[in-house]
Amino acid sequence: MAYSIFITGGASGIGLAMARLFAERGWFVGLADIDEAAMARAADTLPPGRVSTHRLDVRDREQWDEALTAFENSAGGQLHVVANNAGIPLGGDLAENSTAEIERCLDINLKGAIFGAQASLPFLRRTAPDACLLNTASAAGIYGTSGASVYSATKFGVRALTESLDGEWAAHGIRVRSLMPAFIDTPLLAHTPNARSNESIRQRVLNAGLEITPVTEVAEAAWQAVHGDRLHTLVGATARRMAFAARWMPARLRKMARAGTQPLGR
Ligand code: NAD
Repeated sequence: MAYSIFITGGASGIGLAMARLFAERGWFVGLADIDEAAMARAADTLPPGRVSTHRLDVRDREQWDEALTAFENSAGGQLHVVANNAGIPLGGDLAENSTAEIERCLDINLKGAIFGAQASLPFLRRTAPDACLLNTASAAGIYGTSGASVYSATKFGVRALTESLDGEWAAHGIRVRSLMPAFIDTPLLAHTPNARSNESIRQRVLNAGLEITPVTEVAEAAWQAVHGDRLHTLVGATARRMAFAARWMPARLRKMARAGTQPLGR
């Protein structure tokens, strides 16, 4: 029987790239997304017979139970990996973020990941020790990003969830991992940082002279994370630089953030 992976935010970007790579390597994949039309288009591009689609708003705890149960049935009764990947960007100074923007970002990026982890546990316990929870955090979870404080706080939360559950679920034989990508070439970069801004995130990254990493590199990193022993997997040169600086020269990183030269800083 094939291994199976359930991926939230599977209709686009990183989630879809992961789905493609795991399906090509023989896995059964479940796409879960709030955007049903995009999900149907995405499923059409994947190997037939190896994919199911599930309408899921990650903010809704009950929908999680229904989607995971349906996926487990489609996958022949076994769910091996849950990729808690759905997320949205939010940038700009905290003072200019609206209450609605702040709540939406917290709810999708953090509450959605927590609900996903909790809902996944009974399913993953059945396939342990072949089971894994894979959370998409971000390089914004390495050092607080000035100019994206709320997004950064959600990704620190996802990082904490990963570390907490890595400890908590060791007794169940379930692996817990995170991905920490920097700037990845996905439709997310076409968004503006917030409702008040009219410059895309992509433009800001390019203006800052930073690299944009192909999405296939994150998919390969996801494969390695699921199969390896590393708790957090960095993807992209900026993520590796940030991790190095946070560990070995935090004072320099703080100085850069205060001067507004940190990646995406204001
Ligand atoms: P994307 O916009 O291409 O895809 C995100 C998907 O999530 C979309 O299909 C969207 O419909 C779905 N989604 C949004 N809200 C949802 C909800 N409530 N329930 C279910 N699905 C929902 O973005 P992406 O770049 O592929 O981002 C995926 C993850 O990677 C996010 O968590 C993001 O924060 C993270 N990330 C992205 C980058 C980057 O540069 N692209 C860098 C670091 C981390």
